[in-house]
Amino acid sequence: MVEQEIHIILGFRLATGKVNLNEIVYRLKELRDPLMLRILEQVLMRYDDLISERLSHTEIYPSKARKGLGRHFRKEEGEARRYCRGRKVKRRGYREKERKIATALGGLSLRIRTVECCTCGARYAPLLSALGVGAYARKEVNFEHEVIEAVIDTNYRRLVDGRSIDISLGGIHNVVVGSDIDQTFQEPVFVKDLAGIEADGTGVKQKGGAKGELRAVIGVTQAGRVEPLGCFTNTAWPEVERTIKERLHEAEGHNIPFIYDGEPGLDDFLAGVAEAQRCTWHAPRGLYHALWEDGVKKKQSEPEMDKIKGLIGFELPEGEYELLKEEDKEAVKSRYESSKEKIQELIETFYEKGYCKGGAYLENLSHRLFTHIELWLKTGVIAPKTTSLLERVFREIGRRLKKIAWGWSDQAVTNLSKMILIRQYARDKWEEYWKEKLGIRGYFTIRIQSVEIMSCLTF
Ligand SMILES: [Zn+2]
Repeated sequence: MVEQEIHIILGFRLATGKVNLNEIVYRLKELRDPLMLRILEQVLMRYDDLISERLSHTEIYPSKARKGLGRHFRKEEGEARRYCRGRKVKRRGYREKERKIATALGGLSLRIRTVECCTCGARYAPLLSALGVGAYARKEVNFEHEVIEAVIDTNYRRLVDGRSIDISLGGIHNVVVGSDIDQTFQEPVFVKDLAGIEADGTGVKQKGGAKGELRAVIGVTQAGRVEPLGCFTNTAWPEVERTIKERLHEAEGHNIPFIYDGEPGLDDFLAGVAEAQRCTWHAPRGLYHALWEDGVKKKQSEPEMDKIKGLIGFELPEGEYELLKEEDKEAVKSRYESSKEKIQELIETFYEKGYCKGGAYLENLSHRLFTHIELWLKTGVIAPKTTSLLERVFREIGRRLKKIAWGWSDQAVTNLSKMILIRQYARDKWEEYWKEKLGIRGYFTIRIQSVEIMSCLTF
């Protein structure tokens, strides 16, 4: 570690007897980012000096002091680019063009030293590789982080305005698409920690106004919290299923309900891991539609729907399962059995009346209506029975996508949805992800040593 000092000289003028506190604070706030940007510039220029000093004076600095510095490709013709072992250089002044990098503090414009390798003769800028800035990188990760946070909060305009950062919607799109979010957050989820899984899709407007479909799968924890499992854009359900299954661990022996609201193609989703449970809120509405197709008018179908709602809409007793009286469990069991029976009767009546669509709908439904009750009777686990949590998730995502991602590609919609979900429901993992990406490891610290007024006062 090298200890250095930065001296800052600020000039201010104040109208004695006239200025108020607000104006002073206002102007200081204006100074904040530009001042930090200037400091950044100075730190980087000094770093550049320190690096070239070490690389050019090998007689003073042992190879240990040059560790991590001077990595460059050999000056060679041809395709195969190999790293050079040479670590002694001659200084060759500054690059003609300043390097522009978008940072969280604003647009940085930096004069960069070039050196020439004494071994292979290649010319390169050792600062860039030392900083972990790629040859063509035009922004740093804090900046990327701020852009993404701003996009999620749908206030990216505020980020851009008033700073020397210029990023267009297209630029934001590229930041989102270029993110590695699709390869991260793949760690296993243990089925035993979940009380249920929900999946559904929602429409999104994409390129040229085309309608796409965003699909999301979430886990619901025992405590009723959302555990994001995956977001997909224009992806077939079997592929979604394959991806989700890969993340689910120790599925055997932990059958949990899979709740959905009748999306075709989801009837056997995650079979073997989860038992299908139709959303008890949406299911009766589907029946209305099926009966309507049979030519049943609203007036006639309404009492039937009320019947169904009454049959499936019973609540489980509150309190610890183990502490419940046997008769409470018995009551649930007999209600469950009679409900099942009455639904069977209803199916038969429908067929007798010639309501084929309605009968088939209810028959299909009847196997998937009481999964959460059956699970509770067997294990005492209270599982979700509606897709309401997932609907909330979709509202969160949809509101933001509408504002910013209009016309975006599949990858962008997928990535952004995933980011929204993880930041919203796994905040700690989200923070961890960025810290890891930023590489904060204690190699740079800066503090305010003293701030004092110059003694040469004029009154
Ligand atoms: Zn070289």
